[in-house]
Amino acid sequence: MTTVVRLDGVRKEYGGTTALDGVSLRIEAGEAVAVMGPSGCGKSTLLNMIAGLDRPTAGTVEVHDEDLGKLSETGLALFRRRRIGMIFQFFNLLDDLPALDNVALAAQLMGVRARPARRRALELLDELGIAERRNAYPATLSGGERQRVAVARALMNRPALLLADEPTGALDSRSGEQVMDLLLDLNQIGQTLLLVTHDRALAERCATRIVQLADGKVA
Ligand code: ADP
Ligand code: ADP
Repeated sequence: MTTVVRLDGVRKEYGGTTALDGVSLRIEAGEAVAVMGPSGCGKSTLLNMIAGLDRPTAGTVEVHDEDLGKLSETGLALFRRRRIGMIFQFFNLLDDLPALDNVALAAQLMGVRARPARRRALELLDELGIAERRNAYPATLSGGERQRVAVARALMNRPALLLADEPTGALDSRSGEQVMDLLLDLNQIGQTLLLVTHDRALAERCATRIVQLADGKVA
């Protein structure tokens, strides 16, 4: 089996606060892992460590056989764009670009030319059932549509790992379920998934494994 994420003894301190207190965790290819726990237990910090958005105070983080501690800031930014897809509670789409361009941009930033990038973006929007909304600006899309556009963007560069931070937190229950089903489908065709949520129903439906965090430790 291929290990996609390997954390060993990861600590993260912010000033006097210990956000992560010696977390070791492995995620194998094809798993869908949900990280759960109360507010302030370190879920977002854990996600940021794995995405290379922040560095641990101690311990190692490896993703796709890359030791993130050995990468420069530029190397980390490249790693993030190439290997990680992220979706967020509030979508983080660019408001001044239509759906298709929001998606295509992820590949264009990696050096793919506009035309092939737009072609793949359209394929993804089609697979996610929102191709007909390709020219719509985020403000005119429903929450569920925005999240599907965000999923398409996250998949553009065929990430080794899809990170989802409370992906249904801003959605009504029906669109939340649709996004959940989408994540489930993606995992069933092999996408490795790490989901942060405090929604147990979501975790139980989507995840092959639930990791409980408490006070910065795996419980
Ligand atoms: P969760 O996502 O589970 O709510 P976080 O990872 O956001 O938890 O936070 C874990 C702990 O670290 C909390 O005590 C929080 O206040 C603290 N923390 C997180 N980020 C920062 C930061 N940038 N500066 C200072 N403290 C932080
Ligand atoms: P920055 O100005 O930080 O360099 P980028 O150009 O990397 O921003 O990203 C533009 C937008 O795309 C941002 O809203 C960012 O949150 C989002 N984004 C960047 N990388 C990814 C990714 N791998 N998956 C999903 N969204 C991403």
